This record gives sequence, C-alpha cells and structure tokens, in this order.
Amino acid sequence: MKNLPFLLRENLCSLWSFLVVSIQRPRQGLRKPNPPDRTAQHLRTWYGLSAEVVIEGDYWHWVRLGFLPIPHPPLINLFLRRGLPPAEKRKLSYWHELGHLQTVPWAFLLAAIYLGMLWWRAEIGGSLLWRGMAALIGHEAIWELGAEGYVIRHMGRQYWQIYEQRGDMISLAAFWFGLSLLAIITTWYIVGWG
Ligand SMILES: [Zn+2]
Repeated sequence: MKNLPFLLRENLCSLWSFLVVSIQRPRQGLRKPNPPDRTAQHLRTWYGLSAEVVIEGDYWHWVRLGFLPIPHPPLINLFLRRGLPPAEKRKLSYWHELGHLQTVPWAFLLAAIYLGMLWWRAEIGGSLLWRGMAALIGHEAIWELGAEGYVIRHMGRQYWQIYEQRGDMISLAAFWFGLSLLAIITTWYIVGWG
C-alpha cells in the first residue's frame, strides 16, 4: 500500500489541477468568439459579485461566482431539456444557471431557515442525520424551483411555447409537481408534523 503522504500529495495535486482548469476554462472560452454550440456570459449579479456562466455541450456546465468555480454536471437541465433543439436547450440552461447565481442570497436565507427549524424542533427527537438529509433535499428542491422560475420570468410565454412544440409536457409537470411535493414533504418531516 502506498504511504499516506504520497496519497495526500497526489490527491492535492489533482484537486489543484481540477481547480485551475475550472477557473481557466471559462476565461479561455470568453476570449474567443462563441462558436454556435456554446453560450458564455460574464456578468455581475444584483448583489455585486462577478459571475461567469458557460454552457457548452450537454454534460458539463462551467459556472463561477466571485472567485469560486462551481463546475457541475447539469442534472436538472439534462432531465428538463431532453429532446429540445440545441439552441433552445442552451438558452434555457443558461437562464437556469443564472437563476441559481441570482438567487444565492435567498438560498443562504433558506439554509438559515432550515437550520433554524432543525434547532427549533430538536426536542422532538428523531435522527438528526435523517432530518439533516431531508433539509438538504428540501433546500435543493426549492432552489431548483427558484432557478427554473427565474427562467420563466425571463422567457415568459416563449418558455411554454418551446415545451408545447416539443409535445412533451410530462417531464415539465414531473419537475414542477415532483420537486414541489418533495419540498413540502421534507419541510413537513423536519418540522415534525408528520
Ligand atoms: Zn439547477
């Protein structure tokens, strides 16, 4: 077995290169003109932090908020944008990612509320681990709904028209209904009314 300092150094090196690539990649993308299969924007959020959103291909999004790179697989966008024309898929994904960035202060507020509920209802007992996991899931569900709400706010009727043209409203309904239900059930569970 390899010794611990070696493993630590190897892992720190890969973490470092991951971070460098994450920071560099969107910047490089912004310098050259956008090819047709890419949407890249450098902007300032309403609360004053600079941000970048790069949507390229279906399986990875490059997002940066302030100095913090947040590259991630676009799970919700993959599910919701199936079967859409590439240009519309990218446009909707871009507004969704921007929606996450613009609602970061509300996400923090929501996290504080959930933590408050966990603390307030600590005396009801039950596993803090399960209730903490429910809080994480509920928080993620509400943040996803908020980000997608931001898309609708910016695209208006066009949002529904794009989905009507695709002829599949089921995944859209599954997203809105499923995540709303998840948010209600997890919150209910945390507060201990169930
Ligand atoms: Zn999302």
